[in-house]
Amino acid sequence: MHESADITTTVKDAMQIVLGGVRGSACMPHTAFQHYGGATTSVLADDGRGTRVVFDAGSGLQTLAPQISDTNAEHTLLMLFTHYHLDHLIGLPSFAPLYNPAWHVIFAAPIRAGNTPENALRQLITAPYWPSQIPQHHRFITLPDHCGSSTYEHGSFTLRWCAVHHHSGCHAYRLDHRATGASMVFATDFEWSASNASERDGLLRLCREPGTVDVLIAEGNDPSTHRAGHGHSTWPEAVEIAEAVGAHQLIITHHGPADTDNILTQREQNLKKRLPSAKLGYQGMRIDWRHQNELQTK
Ligand SMILES: [Zn+2]
Ligand SMILES: [Zn+2]
Repeated sequence: MHESADITTTVKDAMQIVLGGVRGSACMPHTAFQHYGGATTSVLADDGRGTRVVFDAGSGLQTLAPQISDTNAEHTLLMLFTHYHLDHLIGLPSFAPLYNPAWHVIFAAPIRAGNTPENALRQLITAPYWPSQIPQHHRFITLPDHCGSSTYEHGSFTLRWCAVHHHSGCHAYRLDHRATGASMVFATDFEWSASNASERDGLLRLCREPGTVDVLIAEGNDPSTHRAGHGHSTWPEAVEIAEAVGAHQLIITHHGPADTDNILTQREQNLKKRLPSAKLGYQGMRIDWRHQNELQTK
């Protein structure tokens, strides 16, 4: 696993980002996927003072659960959904804080393909797919569909979002940590080459406004296996976006179910030839960002 250059502590007054799962489409619990991890996508942003935001709830949500459930944390959690494909949801039904009355989860997303987050999530977590339902004390918020111009505040974080090009719709999110000015954008499941001018402009603006994004987490298939029309982008396209906006750090995620550790190790070498500071995301990766180029990864 990743034993080098690690940092382990949660830094105060920093935005810590943790990748709980980096896989797309399917969970791959097999030794050939051990290095980068087999859990599907779920990302935690933590301000070190108890305010926590989760992006997507793939099976990687389970690997984030110990940090989320830390007793020092506020028992309020903001959960955002890029979209409702199952690789981004499959960890939610078994997420223990959902069934703990002391916890208050705020589920938030814009309306997508006619579905509010409450419609979409309650349809999944119910019979015959699951034996329990989402308890009534949690909140659902439908974010206004004003890409880039609306904000939502949660603790020390300010949230922005925009629509991206994907089957049944998808949104990218930006989080700004007001105490430090640190920022991140999470953009997965979007087809850059099929995006129209408005969709492209929306994502570029999200990365540029209100300031150049620090950490861009973006999906990136390999061009050799990429299939047009399937709703996804390649890592050279992610590099193109990162360079266009001047992002300080690019992390590639949403690796495919055929992407073994050997394949991803080679891909990371190719990525670094193109953009030396870029990294492939792996399960358990931690990024502490205190702005002013103070990046540490684990
Ligand atoms: Zn996906
Ligand atoms: Zn998808």
